[in-house]
Amino acid sequence: MNLLEDELTGLHNRRGFQSLLQRHVQNANQRQNNLALIVIDVDGMSRLNGAHGYAFGDAVLQHVARQIGEAARSHDYAARIDGNRFALILTRLLNAGHAELAIQKLFRLLDVPMRHADQLVRVSVTAGVALCPVHATHADFLLRLAERAVETARSAGQHYAFAREASLDQGMPDAWDLEIEMESALDRGELSMHYQPQIRIADGHPVGVEALMRWTSPSKGSIPPDIFIPIAERTGQIKKLTVWAMNTVLRQSSHWSHPWGPLSVAVNIPADLVAQDDLPDMLATAAKLWGTPDIHLVLEITERSLMDPKRSFEILKRIREPGTRVSIDDFGTGYSSLAYFRDLPVDELKVDRSFVSQLLTDPACSHITNLIIDMAHRFGMSVVAEGVEDEVTLQALRERGCDIAQGYFFGKAMPSPAIEQWLNAVHDARAAPPAE
Ligand code: C2E
Ligand code: CA
Ligand code: CA
Repeated sequence: MNLLEDELTGLHNRRGFQSLLQRHVQNANQRQNNLALIVIDVDGMSRLNGAHGYAFGDAVLQHVARQIGEAARSHDYAARIDGNRFALILTRLLNAGHAELAIQKLFRLLDVPMRHADQLVRVSVTAGVALCPVHATHADFLLRLAERAVETARSAGQHYAFAREASLDQGMPDAWDLEIEMESALDRGELSMHYQPQIRIADGHPVGVEALMRWTSPSKGSIPPDIFIPIAERTGQIKKLTVWAMNTVLRQSSHWSHPWGPLSVAVNIPADLVAQDDLPDMLATAAKLWGTPDIHLVLEITERSLMDPKRSFEILKRIREPGTRVSIDDFGTGYSSLAYFRDLPVDELKVDRSFVSQLLTDPACSHITNLIIDMAHRFGMSVVAEGVEDEVTLQALRERGCDIAQGYFFGKAMPSPAIEQWLNAVHDARAAPPAE
């Protein structure tokens, strides 16, 4: 069984689609290509199921899937993302006109009736299109806009509609506005660092924190880093933010009292920076200003940083020399090659939250977690599980020999004074003799 494939149609399933969309939107942004996302709903699916039975409904979905596959080129990706909802990612588009051509082709293919038992049936669909970068440059935005375009088409009685440019929507501020606001967010003091605790699983000891950036915009309120970090990456502001983050984290943590021993503080380092030669100097400068021997810096990088191993390994080796550790974030979701695993200049793997959260419900996630823990230990690395939300998951991780846990079960990310208090309270509670 392929976990990323839809059983009924053989297309990608929702999970496979999400990671494909993220990857290709990222590629399109990096290479300044155009991409189109088409969301396609089969009309009147519940009526078809009711009138002709579910076997017929399945046949309709398979028929639509085949036609979408037919309309796609070799570098496009088709997926079934919900019961009667499909998606088609068109990569490397020259212009919006090409998305239109793809839709026309699909409608022509669907004009030919399908045969089921003795009947001929014409299946109708409604489609919505959103373009990257015209409408959005973030995978979540793009999907939302394409889905909304389906509704627009439907309520206007059309077969398809394009997303409206730069439309402001409920709760999701417009990317353009954010880009502009982001420019000066740092100078206006709207950014801050929060810290989420990390616990050693064997004895519950607080051993460190991960630093997570927060942005509170005066006009839009709190904006999640999943939204603003990609914007900062795309607009070239991420380097400035990372230098600021590194200095802020080292400065704030140097004031914390933690008499029981050293603490590790992890900072997220975006892929582009790992490829730059001046990362080691940046770190050295921050460490010179704020470094203390009892704070051990951990750099969280992603698998994407390692795509050019020759270059990144060399830079990471220079970083690791003065005692800074390197951790691979979201491990298992990228495209690491096992071939170079032996030579990885890395000290720690972080099991992605998507595996941890389904550890007890999805056997595949459980196997993957076991594999990561086993592999890390064989290569002398430690393992952090992120997204631990309950005691049973923690217990399952303990049984699997996982070293460190992080997640809402222990605490969310909190401001500097609160994390200092939190760490001390947990340490004191553990040190105190058990109550009678
Ligand atoms: P990440 O590095 O994987 O960070 C972990 C995310 O999981 C954080 O979200 C954290 O709040 C969340 N999380 C932790 N425990 C749990 C849990 O038990 N349940 C659930 N549902 N979530 C949990 P956050 O702070 O929203 O950050 C999202 C992403 O934004 C981060 O993912 C990271 O990729 C990026 N990011 C955050 N801060 C920075 C930063 O300073 N620099 C860079 N480059 N990226 C950052
Ligand atoms: Ca991280
Ligand atoms: Ca992570």
